[in-house]
Amino acid sequence: MISMFVADTHVHLLGSEKPSEVEASMDKAGVDLLVVIAPYKQTFMPQGRVSCANIKSVRMGNDFVANLVKNLPDRLKGYAFITGLGNVEENLRELERAIQDLGLHGVKMFPNLGWYPDDPKMDPIYELIEDLGVPILFHSGVVPWISDIHGQGPLLSKYSRPVYYEGVVRRFPKLKIILAHMSWPWFMEAITVAYLTPNIYLDLCTDFTTATTRLKEEALKMALETIGVERLLYASDATPLGWEYMREHLDRTVKLLRRLKVSEEDIAKILGGNARKLFKL
Ligand SMILES: [Zn+2]
Repeated sequence: MISMFVADTHVHLLGSEKPSEVEASMDKAGVDLLVVIAPYKQTFMPQGRVSCANIKSVRMGNDFVANLVKNLPDRLKGYAFITGLGNVEENLRELERAIQDLGLHGVKMFPNLGWYPDDPKMDPIYELIEDLGVPILFHSGVVPWISDIHGQGPLLSKYSRPVYYEGVVRRFPKLKIILAHMSWPWFMEAITVAYLTPNIYLDLCTDFTTATTRLKEEALKMALETIGVERLLYASDATPLGWEYMREHLDRTVKLLRRLKVSEEDIAKILGGNARKLFKL
């Protein structure tokens, strides 16, 4: 078990979890806090497997996460989900409801649904999120399932290249942006974009990608040498009841950081200290 405060900042709800089960799982995993993502119906999962099948709408997913978080306020923080698709006003209304009324702590967006992060049509959404003062977690890098969304059009990785955030941060300099998965395989691009702006963070979960241990070490070394530890966030991409994976991922990450000779003080920042500041815990 790790004796430091551990916040896992990227965890996917499926929409059926009960608070007591989540808490028990976290205790077994040795994780103090999860930032959980609103479940959203993922029709793009492989082999016709639809994740979060009982979540019928974005609103329902946001209600689910808010309710769970209210039941475990000391252990959970929640990301609202909006698609960024369709009517911008509807996205804005749901965003306001989720952050202001439901009290959620961040926003998750998935550009691979078919928009570029720097598309000016997203600006009203970023403007509101900047005003609300919460971070956005973007799926970034390759997409895990190159398949169909709603039965039409492929889900493509091209929408989540880190270089598209240059335009976003120029227009919204106070927006806090987390690029998930170190934008794998574009970690050099992600680290470089982060080097140029103080408000880009990287999360460290890369398991579904081509990040072998050796390559991940290289990526972490580059990040540590250039942007330092303050904007690296521990994340597993797990589901909250998957405590065995959560624990194994945590142990593996700590071993990797120790092998890179990161000090215990800096490991504590990556595992939880940085999240504490970002989410104002
Ligand atoms: Zn994820």
